[in-house]
Amino acid sequence: MIAVANHSDTQPSAFPTIAIIGGGFSGVAVACHLCAGSTRPLRVLLFERAAEIGRGVAYGNPDESLLLNVPAQRMNLWPNRPERSFFEWAKVAKGATDRTAFLPRTWFGQYTQHELIEAVGGPEGRHIFWRVQAQVLRARPDGRGQVALTDDRGRRYLANRVVLATGNGPSRLPAPLVPLLGVTDQLIVNPWSEEGLARAHEARRVLLVGTGLTMMDVAVGMARGGSFAQIIAVSRRGLLPRAHGPSHAAAHAQWVGTLSGRTLKSLLHAVRDRARQAEVDQTGWRSVIDAMRPHTTRLWNELPRSDRQKFLRQIAVWWDVHRHRCPQEVYSVVQVWRERGRLAVLAGELTSARLERTGEISVEVRPRGGHLSIRMGFDAVVLCTGPDGDVTRSKDELLSDLLQRGEVAPHTLGLGFRRMPWRARCVPMASQVRGSRRSVRFARVSFGKAQRYRNLRRRRGIWHAP
Ligand SMILES: Cc1cc2nc3c(=O)[nH]c(=O)nc-3n(C[C@H](O)[C@H](O)[C@H](O)COP(=O)(O)OP(=O)(O)OC[C@H]3O[C@@H](n4cnc5c(N)ncnc54)[C@H](O)[C@@H]3O)c2cc1C
Repeated sequence: MIAVANHSDTQPSAFPTIAIIGGGFSGVAVACHLCAGSTRPLRVLLFERAAEIGRGVAYGNPDESLLLNVPAQRMNLWPNRPERSFFEWAKVAKGATDRTAFLPRTWFGQYTQHELIEAVGGPEGRHIFWRVQAQVLRARPDGRGQVALTDDRGRRYLANRVVLATGNGPSRLPAPLVPLLGVTDQLIVNPWSEEGLARAHEARRVLLVGTGLTMMDVAVGMARGGSFAQIIAVSRRGLLPRAHGPSHAAAHAQWVGTLSGRTLKSLLHAVRDRARQAEVDQTGWRSVIDAMRPHTTRLWNELPRSDRQKFLRQIAVWWDVHRHRCPQEVYSVVQVWRERGRLAVLAGELTSARLERTGEISVEVRPRGGHLSIRMGFDAVVLCTGPDGDVTRSKDELLSDLLQRGEVAPHTLGLGFRRMPWRARCVPMASQVRGSRRSVRFARVSFGKAQRYRNLRRRRGIWHAP
């Protein structure tokens, strides 16, 4: 049973209590696996500040024209239970017929909610499950082996273990835009806010900062919403995500085995050569990238630090547009808008921005490889830069407090949090669930893709082995 908690809860419990902070996809997935996999009854507290759980930013918008970036068959909550896959759910609930289709994102949110109800209330329904609609502001060891959580209404809770599933932080703000923050609401820092997007829809000249999947989403939303805006999208290289297409990853599975232990340079050569060859033998470059997907964590871990830095500086942007592709439908809308001259993509760097008396935002962009900047005026500027991986810049009260107290540590390459310091490392969920007396209390999960579960489980040992 899912019960709604609306009061403090600091009474001792007969069951181990796991608090999950964040009820987006990751938080709900952890709750599902905990309930389905634990050999003993648990008490789970799921904290989510939004009204609905299982949705988060990605699956929260009810607009069915917003599509998943991944085919239905690859969006699963249970790696080993094909009968509980997203596609099986969509077949029954929505009449879906094509497992390779890009289905609406909101459906995936509904599937996640459905699976939680099944896991909590189904045959595994011996657990106590509280859903708390609140923002957790503090999670601190109470000195007696538990963690005390405080929410934004001053309520307190005690838990044996805490899972951080708070998702990505806000978008990266390029330095030239910092002075405009809080000065004008024409700078739209949250590309997912309905209010912000409504402002962009009304504007005549719109600058989208960033040219990745977020930009594609915003541009397509504007196109479908009947916007009359003239849009310019800018990023340093002006690269757009490629479209999905046929992929035969299995054809390259053996080749991937030859990639171990290479330097970045050697890896790059190998991947480029293989992709060229794949274009000739008709399997296509997508097959090569997809064949690498299950191995990227291992390859990354094998690289020396200097190569990882180089990858982030120079290669990541190329990797991202080939690896994180968009549905063909989305790609086509963007192409049509480009052909009609409604959307221009510019490779260059934002060098300055200011708010004019007229209310327009005047922006200077230095085109890539050029010396002179171009000045342009916009009625709205939308940040589509993707999440800021540098958590030390986070304004989030909970994360700032945890960082300050050393309960979690920033990743040294600016990729979110470090794997975990001694106090906060992830330990096998089995030992947490059995109420081990170890001092480890925090486990953090932030994994974007359901299909990565298997890897994560192996790598971090988060899940309780069934
Ligand atoms: C537009 C978009 C489309 C995407 N499409 C896909 C796709 O097609 N396929 C795919 O695999 N991935 C996709 N992704 C990636 C997606 O982000 C992940 O798959 C996944 O949804 C991330 O889930 P999460 O739970 O880690 O984070 P989130 O979804 O961000 O959830 C975190 C939750 O924590 C809550 N929270 C944060 N702090 C607190 C606090 N202190 N107290 C209480 N609650 C808190 C937030 O309100 C939020 O609901 C997409 C992402 C975006 C932004």
